[in-house]
Amino acid sequence: MIEHRNYIAGAWSGEDFRRNSNPSDLSDTVGMYARATEHEVDRAIEAAAEAQPGWAALPVGARASYLDAIGSMILARASELGELLAREEGKTRAEGIGEAARAGQTFRYYAAQILQATGERFASTTPGTTIDVDRRPLGVIGIITPWNFPLAIPAWKAAPALAYGNTVVMKPADLVPGSAWLIASIIHEAGVPAGVFNLVLGSGRMIGARLVESPLVDGITFTGSTQVGMHIAGESLRHGAKRFQLEMGGKNPLLVLDDADIDVAVAAAVAGTFYSTGQRCTASSRLVVQSGIHDVFVERLTKATSELVVGHALEATTEIGPVVSESQLQQDLDYVRIGRDEGAEVLTGGEVVERATEGNFMQPTLFAAGRNDMRINREEIFGPVACVIRVDDYEEGLAVANDTEYGLSSGVVTTSLSKAANFRAHAQAGIITINRPTANTEMHVPFGGTKASSFGAREQGPHAREFFTTMTTTYTAHGTP
Ligand code: NAP
Ligand code: MG
Repeated sequence: MIEHRNYIAGAWSGEDFRRNSNPSDLSDTVGMYARATEHEVDRAIEAAAEAQPGWAALPVGARASYLDAIGSMILARASELGELLAREEGKTRAEGIGEAARAGQTFRYYAAQILQATGERFASTTPGTTIDVDRRPLGVIGIITPWNFPLAIPAWKAAPALAYGNTVVMKPADLVPGSAWLIASIIHEAGVPAGVFNLVLGSGRMIGARLVESPLVDGITFTGSTQVGMHIAGESLRHGAKRFQLEMGGKNPLLVLDDADIDVAVAAAVAGTFYSTGQRCTASSRLVVQSGIHDVFVERLTKATSELVVGHALEATTEIGPVVSESQLQQDLDYVRIGRDEGAEVLTGGEVVERATEGNFMQPTLFAAGRNDMRINREEIFGPVACVIRVDDYEEGLAVANDTEYGLSSGVVTTSLSKAANFRAHAQAGIITINRPTANTEMHVPFGGTKASSFGAREQGPHAREFFTTMTTTYTAHGTP
């Protein structure tokens, strides 16, 4: 079995390894992965700082070629990457391959994106003068990623960071080092100059603190829990007012109105709530349903949920893979108990399930008779658990949908154009879906939320440059004064 090391200054390093196991089959070793030391993290940061001016000085076409090559290599190996992702995280093979393809496309997208014009020219109020606004790379970027999108999130942070002339030190989630390691190995194979991209594996607490505290790191882009994100925010400000971008938790509502097409509503709820085992920041976990359609919707959704096939992520028939880890499974089961204690009713699921292999398998769980003030409807569970909340009319439904500290995504299912338009104007979220699952992310458009879900510039699309570049404003006098 190969030992997967840290990637620092163009070379592989690390002595101390930890085994990572497959949540579909705990006896299956996905790989042995290094634990970076403090010294290695510091070396990675120094390497990135040394490489940054040279990388930024490359002609834009050269950077574009590297990104294009990385994207093409990821796409060519999408099946292998997707399967590894499914083994280490537990989403289905099809979802894993889809995510790998998206990661490859993201690198290719930014290869083209950086050839777009980025400067602006303004007239000056002073005669004979022009004002130019230019963009520069931010510098060295610390990338900290969660476990639930082990390829897509590293790609959607690393690709624009590198594209706009920054260098990177990336720290992936400890549960999923393998996908990030494969990206690093592809970047190495693509011949990207040493130090431009560095990967450090291991503990978030130690590596995260080192990245945030280092004066050589100019920005931190983080995706993960609100709790860790808020900690990073405070520390970034304490350490030289470092720039930071945070994508955090969600408690996303799907509002189903009486005039909804019932098939569309059930399909949106099943996919948005339970696919990827509910482990998506954009998953719908509050199903806010108007009273006229409530009973038929609940009956249809209960049936569809109970028929979902839970199993090993690599089995072709599996629709819902395992929960990512034993501690996450325990958290999901704790919330099932909390929901029952609060008086919500379990319509289907709520139990662990046994399969041929020992894994973290859990039935998708649907609650009804929920109130929006219950803990299961306030706190992010991050598993295959959702709750139906009954409302009388659209106004109440919108109010319940918005009554949350989070604001990542928010969906409505309706055939009324005016209600859809009203929802689009008033839903308190960064991502709004109409007659679709709440989980939508396309790489060429901005992604991010409001309230406690996000802080700072949007990710993805051309808007990613807001975080990864800084602006200069130049006043030029042309004539003799
Ligand atoms: P997490 O526990 O917050 O961890 C995220 C990353 O931060 C990991 O790499 C983790 O490393 C690292 N970390 C832990 N403690 C740290 C510290 N003190 N300083 C710096 N970094 C630290 O989140 P998770 O459990 O991986 O992911 C689930 C969460 O991510 C959910 O809340 C979900 O909603 C959110 N999420 C949000 C989005 C979005 O775009 N809004 C997308 C996906 C996921 P270790 O793994 O080593 O602990
Ligand atoms: Mg965690």
